Amino acid sequence: MGEVKKIRTVCRSCHGGCGVIAHVKDGKVIKVEGDPESPISHGTMCSKGLAITQLAYHPDRVLYPMKKSDNGWERISWDEALDTLAEKFKQVTKENGAESIVVGQGTGRDYESHLYRFANLLGTPNVLTAGHMCYVSRVGATLITCGNLPVCDYEGEPKCIVMWACNPQWTNPDEYKGEGFWRAYIKGSKLIVIDPRKGFLAKKADLWLQLRPGTDAALAMGFFNVIVEEDLYDREFVDNYVNGWDAFVRRVREYPLEQVEEITWVKQDLIRKAARMYATTKPACINWGVPTEQTLNCTDCTRILTGLMAATGNLDAPGGNVFFVPPPTRTVSEFARHKDLPPEQRAKRLGGDQYKLASRVALITPKVAWDAILTGKPYPLKAGLLCGTNPVTTRANAKEAYDALKKLEFLAVIDFFLTPTAELADIFLPAGTWLEQNHVADNWKRHGYVLARQKAVEIGECWQDHKVFLELGKRMGQDWWDTVEDALDYILEPSGLTWEEFKGKGYLKGDQVYYKYREKGFSTPTGKVELHSTILEKWGYDPLPKYTEMPESPISRPDLLDRYPYILNAGLRTPTFFHSANRMIPWLREIRPDPIVEIHPETAKKHGIKEGQWVYIESPRGRVKQRAKLNDGIDPRVIVAEHGWWFPEIKDPGHGWDISNINILTDNSHESMDPVMGATNLRVLLCNILPCEDEQEGTRWERFL
Ligand code: SF4
Repeated sequence: MGEVKKIRTVCRSCHGGCGVIAHVKDGKVIKVEGDPESPISHGTMCSKGLAITQLAYHPDRVLYPMKKSDNGWERISWDEALDTLAEKFKQVTKENGAESIVVGQGTGRDYESHLYRFANLLGTPNVLTAGHMCYVSRVGATLITCGNLPVCDYEGEPKCIVMWACNPQWTNPDEYKGEGFWRAYIKGSKLIVIDPRKGFLAKKADLWLQLRPGTDAALAMGFFNVIVEEDLYDREFVDNYVNGWDAFVRRVREYPLEQVEEITWVKQDLIRKAARMYATTKPACINWGVPTEQTLNCTDCTRILTGLMAATGNLDAPGGNVFFVPPPTRTVSEFARHKDLPPEQRAKRLGGDQYKLASRVALITPKVAWDAILTGKPYPLKAGLLCGTNPVTTRANAKEAYDALKKLEFLAVIDFFLTPTAELADIFLPAGTWLEQNHVADNWKRHGYVLARQKAVEIGECWQDHKVFLELGKRMGQDWWDTVEDALDYILEPSGLTWEEFKGKGYLKGDQVYYKYREKGFSTPTGKVELHSTILEKWGYDPLPKYTEMPESPISRPDLLDRYPYILNAGLRTPTFFHSANRMIPWLREIRPDPIVEIHPETAKKHGIKEGQWVYIESPRGRVKQRAKLNDGIDPRVIVAEHGWWFPEIKDPGHGWDISNINILTDNSHESMDPVMGATNLRVLLCNILPCEDEQEGTRWERFL
């Protein structure tokens, strides 16, 4: 029997970052545990990370490349798989132009730099990610407002934390782990929670503001109203570093608190109290989550929240929302060679004229991709390469996503399992998990660290995603390195370290400097925080942020209320799943065997629904079923449903993608999207619920076992 070898690495079962010690025996990872020396997680890990061994060694995991034939999936070699892809992409480029190839990713396994390099050198501007409604939309809106993404400085010990639409104990946004927040909170920070649902943090909070879903931008305007009227802003900062303050204040006055209460359902007194607490407790930070982005107000909401950080003097101040200084490594943008995408190709980016901020941050929205495939307009997409993404379950209007992907002339998918999306592919390429990956992790994040994720094992014929792009790129005649590790040396070159040396160190941290704007101003056209945006003005949008009512809400569509009387808030997170991932992992499905929809007890009673009963949720676009969980911590007018559900235990190629998938009900019409970024609205839709009589007792998972 072999010795147990301990390998220090970094998890990527969510957005990543937690330090891990992998125990390897006889070439197999037998367990993982938190690394107490990690500067990010200090020895903690969550259920998703701890279950990695069940994912990596799952019997259904695909361990070799495959092609689809008349007899179903057939094993092939890497050479055959990559040659097929290269040949097809060359043919499509020759016949239709590189822009007719879409390259797509999900939340990623830290391969953005490689995927974008491949796409840019191929010459396609059509990179499809979740970024239009998740994180990149926040990055984009803050870039045009203050030149960078402001991130909570938990190490700087905030005295007040506003947890705005985020639950980092369950789900970790890019820069944060629940652990960092918790350390600050238990040191005595005040806590304001803004959430339509009373979760763990709302119960701990000094103030909980239970807003109507999707009205975050109006609530933020209410905060500003109090701060302006009560003179609670940092006058010196505003005078010197804000562009368009007077015009912005005039806009703020269009949102008196009575009106904000009416829009948001939050009592005026509570808004006043929270705004005072945030503005007068120094330092204070806002920890924001994706629900602020997943509506029509995506860009404006981000801009108002950034304005709050700025006007209260908390921007780039210790313990506030800061611009972390990265360690000296090559950036994702440099590695990805964005500048080498020819201007004539960039001009062909789908939706580029319409969603100008999305185009600015080099991505397209799913809707324009589906339109191009299904209608051929403005030109057809012919082929696709999707990596670690399952749009059939995770993108709005799932039926349209399914039809579009099915219609693509050629599709290749890089993943661990045959997901409902992968089943639509012609070629399947088996990806390595984070246990099978060498990478300078987190070099795309804005939290001031890069981390050494080192390979613990190799499993089957799986390749880390980076190697797939590198080898495919070389076959396409692109400029790449001989090995993955050579590329890592290139990323690390400015630090003076090689990959081998960096592995020994474990991580690098940038030298943090606060108040950088005092020396250099902000990286915007005016050098100031642009509450009046010169960029949006130039692009033809309203330069001042505002709140817009959702197109399918009780206010804008009273005609639908008879049939669909409730607000559907789609996208409830769980501590066990990462979007559509992990449904096949026994440890995690035991905790969360079925999709859950939360309903207020009064609402349940009205419809004769009991705790745990299966219910139908219906919207104008379709019907799905989930299991009812009664929660008196949500408003009786609101229903909160989980997203990302499919059933790997169902063995037909659809894997039950349309049974409980909440995106069957969501809307992706252009009218419902943020006009600047193209963010899809997942948080405010009208729906109805009714008991489901045909579902058997017990959980689906138990029945499967
Ligand atoms: S929080 Fe994310 S990175 Fe940390 S252990 Fe869990 S899945 Fe891994």
